[in-house]
Amino acid sequence: MSNNDKTKVLFAAFECAPFLKTGGLGDVAGALPAALKSDDTDCRVILPLLSQIPAEYKEKMQYVENYYVDLGWRSQYCGLFTLRKGGVMYYFLDNEYYFKRAGIYGEFDDGERVAFFSKAVLETVRHICGTFAPDIIHANDWHTALIPVFLREQYNGDPLYDHIKTVFTIHNLKFQGQYNPMMTGEVLGLAGTPAEGQMCHDDAVNFLQGAVIYADAVTTVSPTYADEICGQGCGEGLEGLFQSRRYKLSGIINGIDRKSYDPETDKAIAVNYNADTLDKKEENKLALQREMGLFEDPDCPVFAMVGRLTKQKGANLLTDLLPEFMHRYMQVVVLGTGESEYEQALGSFAYTSGGKISARIAFDEGLARRIYAGADVFMMPSEFEPCGLAQMIAMRYGTLPLVRETGGLKDTVTGYWDAGEHANGFSFKNFDTIGLRNCTDLALDLWFNHKDTWRKLQRNAVSMDYSWDASAEEYRNLYRSLL
Ligand code: ADP
Repeated sequence: MSNNDKTKVLFAAFECAPFLKTGGLGDVAGALPAALKSDDTDCRVILPLLSQIPAEYKEKMQYVENYYVDLGWRSQYCGLFTLRKGGVMYYFLDNEYYFKRAGIYGEFDDGERVAFFSKAVLETVRHICGTFAPDIIHANDWHTALIPVFLREQYNGDPLYDHIKTVFTIHNLKFQGQYNPMMTGEVLGLAGTPAEGQMCHDDAVNFLQGAVIYADAVTTVSPTYADEICGQGCGEGLEGLFQSRRYKLSGIINGIDRKSYDPETDKAIAVNYNADTLDKKEENKLALQREMGLFEDPDCPVFAMVGRLTKQKGANLLTDLLPEFMHRYMQVVVLGTGESEYEQALGSFAYTSGGKISARIAFDEGLARRIYAGADVFMMPSEFEPCGLAQMIAMRYGTLPLVRETGGLKDTVTGYWDAGEHANGFSFKNFDTIGLRNCTDLALDLWFNHKDTWRKLQRNAVSMDYSWDASAEEYRNLYRSLL
């Protein structure tokens, strides 16, 4: 298929690894577009030229041209730069007033900054359409939520734009872009349009709400989370909106970088291994026990947690149960930072446990990898989890996930309780200590009394394909369904 016949996807995000990343959105924007490129799809990425992007990338960018972008009554400069990296074409939009700031987010005028970016993305289509006329614009999170709104309200009837379909993906529902409704006319130039009425929620204009209403398809990062946000108390105030747009809402699970997270080549771990040499995990376990000050014992199962120490991640359930766990034949390793009550509780349990519990309050990529390799069980008893990457990484390393059945955890982990030897981990339903305790006891029973079944579960876990390729195919199917 020639490049002209391919479906052209313009992927818009405010951050993108390796240029700039503050969270999961940056990871997805950095990995998904390359995976989306295929025989029938071309994907290019469009980003703001934020001043925090390192000079090594800026120096390689090519200036193309500049033009002016109308935003409400303002007309603002926009410079266009390009950079090709890893087979992907990146467009960077420059405006020093909006993007040369001390912080990436948290500026007094974030609403206006993201509105400018969204409008500039659409205006840029006019300037790149000779080589790349998008069929789909894929917007991500509240920073780009105005793209579907502006497209329908301000470009309607323009033949260059009428055929363009929009996909809006929610990575983080906590941030929605809520501002004084005055902004709708003053800054967005949407006064008197249907959008003005539709985007207001609790006396505020809500950018994300606008995207959910105006986009042709809305996705979030796992099918179960897509269901959950329609339910009472799980949609950050937008449950009703999601229910009414359920017909166009779906969930597509994120992938992990299988090259980087590969126990066969991972340089951070003590001994490399693969699906056929899982018994080498034992050497990694002994090394981990040594590193973390636990007593060295290959027979004692190591339960691990790596992540933000917050209630969302179930840190409260773990700290409530540690006094009991101290009396079981098991060890607990925790790596993370977060709320001080959990950091302090973990520190003092570790101090008094006599080598059964160990906690490192830090962000340490290398240690995280050694924990994935050396632990036997990886705990994620989350209250909610839009997708979750850590459970997929743990499986890649043959470490059985023990999770609460929520969001992406439910979609990726099949629990032993329900699936027996077809399981790839352990899971429990209710977000309480009873659930976590029972599930832990089930895992302990399997570890001590059914070693062969344990190995089967490990094999099931390492053979799961949580690559970006699988996610990309689902996104491509979604795009096709819209054209
Ligand atoms: P989140 O909701 O925090 O994005 P995920 O499970 O999706 O949770 O991703 C968390 C990622 O960050 C995983 O790759 C995990 O290994 C890593 N991580 C989290 N906390 C730490 C830490 N303290 N040290 C090293 N890596 C960490």
